[in-house]
Formats: sequence, structure tokens, C-alpha cells
Amino acid sequence: MKIWLDGTLRDAEGARVSVLDHGLTVGDGVFETLKAVHGQAFALTRHLDRLAVSARGLGLPEPDLDEVRRACEAVLTANPMPYGRLRITYTGGLSPLGSDRGTAGPTLVVALGEAQRLPDSTAVVTVPWVRNERGALTGLKSTSYAENVMALARAHERGASEALFGNTVGALCEGTGSNVFVVLDGALYTPPLASGCLAGITRALVAEWAGAEEAELPLDVLDRADEVFLTSTLRDVQGVHAIDGRLLPGAPGPVTAKARRIFTERAAADPDP
Ligand code: PMP
Repeated sequence: MKIWLDGTLRDAEGARVSVLDHGLTVGDGVFETLKAVHGQAFALTRHLDRLAVSARGLGLPEPDLDEVRRACEAVLTANPMPYGRLRITYTGGLSPLGSDRGTAGPTLVVALGEAQRLPDSTAVVTVPWVRNERGALTGLKSTSYAENVMALARAHERGASEALFGNTVGALCEGTGSNVFVVLDGALYTPPLASGCLAGITRALVAEWAGAEEAELPLDVLDRADEVFLTSTLRDVQGVHAIDGRLLPGAPGPVTAKARRIFTERAAADPDP
């Protein structure tokens, strides 16, 4: 396996980042996960743009997006595989111990791993922890994912594959690694970015292609929704067939199935929409 580090392709085995990297010591970094189908990254331009937005949000030096694009292409070419997850990590770099960022400059790593196609529906749980819709990291894809790791572990303990967060005002927000959509009386809704959710790339494409409206939704909408589905780079459009152990018969329902079909068709027709 070849990865990209410090401006060049290297064997993953021997590639090393400093133990004083600010990404490791304080979670000072941003990242992207892309899907790669037969060596072709999906929505690369949108992911690069979001990487830059996240980096800017954290006050990291502006990433050289031409280099990141070249790094992605080099890693994809060096590691042929039918279906993979491409990961871009961009951190504050070598720094003194403590929260001040050093002057060495950022660390850029691009790596690829095999991925699996996921089932077209899944179980979710809700968690009592909240997303802070006014937090400094809100909407940025920072590497500080410990809360998501905890919530996802709780989901797995309960036989689910995703955990859903509300926010500080009790509105539905997002999953640990996905956005959420609900169907109410035949209409499709997803929480607005002001809810504190990430500007998911799949969310934006599904909202546009399948015609969803943004709406602030109270958490208990989950008890009333006709259908619920998740979107993310690796889930695509994934129906929800159980919430906190309560079954949603017939999932994935017709609106979910249609959104999934539209997404699959349009994504296949244009790899960089
Ligand atoms: N929310 C969070 C917290 C995520 O980590 C992800 C995965 N990147 C998403 C939503 C979905 O975003 P995307 O569709 O861009 O993968």
C-alpha cells in the first residue's frame, strides 16, 4: 500500500508522522473521506473545496489544492482496487507540546483503504449528547471526532450502525458520520446547516436531485416520520429500519428508494458533480 506524505508517495509501512504532530497531540486537523470506484474518486472537487473551508475555519495554512488533487490521483493509481475509501488528513503539523501550533507547517497525508458496499437499510439509535450548533468547530470536518467515536460505539453496543445527535435546542441534527433526511406526509426534509450538521456532500446532491427542503425538525419527528434515511459518502442513501429498537416496517420506503435510485444514476453519470 502506497500513501502520500510530505510531498511524495511512500510505502504505508515505513511512513511516519512525528509524535509531536498537532493532529495527534490535540486533534488539530481536518480531513475528508471520499469514495473511490475503480480508481475514480467521486466528487473530488467538492471534497477539496470542503477541505479548504475546514482548514480556513481552523486557521490552518491554506492547503495547496493542486497538490492534494495530485496526491489523491497518485495514491489511487498506485493502489488499484474496485471500491475504496480515500482519506485526506491535513493537520497543524509538528508543534511544541501544548495547544499553540508550531511553525513547521501542516502535515498532509492521503491514504486509501478497501471499503465495502453497505446494506440499503440499517438501524440507528439516538444519543443524549448534543451537537453545539454554535461551536467553533461546527460545520468543519475537524479530526476531533472523539464524540462521534463514543456515540458510534454506543450504537454498535445496541446493534445499530449509526447514532443520531440532536442539538442544544432539541432539534434533529445529524449522525456521527452521516446526514439525516425524514419523510413527512410525502415531503422530504433535512435539517439546515444552522442545526450544526456538516455540509455533507451526499446531503447536498440528494437534496438537489431528489428535491428536499431544509427544515428545523424537533427530535421527536423521528417518532412520526413516514421514512427516515441517512446520507454519506460511504452509505450513499441508506434507509433506516429501526430507531432505538423500534421497527419501521417497510423500510426502505418508496421515497427513500427513489432518492437512492436517483442518486445512484446521477452519480454514475457524473463522477465530479
Ligand atoms: N456528518 C458528519 C459528522 C460526517 O462525518 C459525515 C461524513 N463525512 C457526514 C455528515 C456526511 O458527509 P458526506 O456526505 O460528505 O460524506
